[in-house]
Amino acid sequence: MRAGTVYLVGAGPGDPELLTLRAARLLAEAEVIVHDHLVSDPILELGRRDAQRIYAGKERGNHTLSQPELNQLLVRLARQGKRVLRLKGGDPFVFGRGGEEVEALAEAGIPFEVVPGITAACGIAAYAGIPLTHRDYANSCLFVAGHLKDGSVDLDWDSLVRPGRTLVVYMGLLGLPTLCRELAAHGLPETTPAAIVQHGTTDSQRTVVGTLATLPQLAQAARLAPPTLIIIGEVVRLHAQLAWYEADAAKAGADERAA
Ligand code: SAH
Repeated sequence: MRAGTVYLVGAGPGDPELLTLRAARLLAEAEVIVHDHLVSDPILELGRRDAQRIYAGKERGNHTLSQPELNQLLVRLARQGKRVLRLKGGDPFVFGRGGEEVEALAEAGIPFEVVPGITAACGIAAYAGIPLTHRDYANSCLFVAGHLKDGSVDLDWDSLVRPGRTLVVYMGLLGLPTLCRELAAHGLPETTPAAIVQHGTTDSQRTVVGTLATLPQLAQAARLAPPTLIIIGEVVRLHAQLAWYEADAAKAGADERAA
């Protein structure tokens, strides 16, 4: 790791075992770790014991630091000659504002590197047993952000509703009723299978499966807490057969790892 450099690193969706080797090595070396709320505690524990840890926030409605403040913080730390790890949940270039952060670094002339991580869509598809594409069900897959800053949903609905397409919605819990209603209004059958997964790849992963018509109510009844990911499309049918990581499996896995 080079001094005065910022490493923008994806931490994956939650399970520390899903870190890349490079992320784990950089965690063990960084002097400063700037992380957001999606990075799980077991991952932060892999950091150097004496590393300075800075929480940069970013829960909905609770931005500890504004984006410009955060960008300036990274620039300042690098100018102090620190080895800086900017650690983000999932992949830094998928709905993570990583692009904005490295733009600021580039403008300030600060050297940086970007390390990809497993994005929530891929991690959760795997752990929930929902392949994102499948020759029988889907030949394309689209990742969209489910809400705007003010909580409203504004998507190009017509482009979302395509046969043989899987939709993955990040940040969609709040807008779920609007999402399902608008997709149906734009022609997606109400019987289309849909799933919402809470805390994917962690011990508190929970999956609720329904259809476009039923998911909002089922999700509300299940009192899910963010982060949650929504997957809509025929591929969701496969969950019934392919789910392998349920609560018991998670516990067994934890036991296995502890042993
Ligand atoms: N850069 C991240 C996404 C950040 S946006 C990535 O590549 O995964 C934050 C959204 O990601 C959350 O609102 C949620 O929709 C999704 N997300 C991230 N981790 C998740 C997890 N463990 N379980 C469910 N959804 C998750």
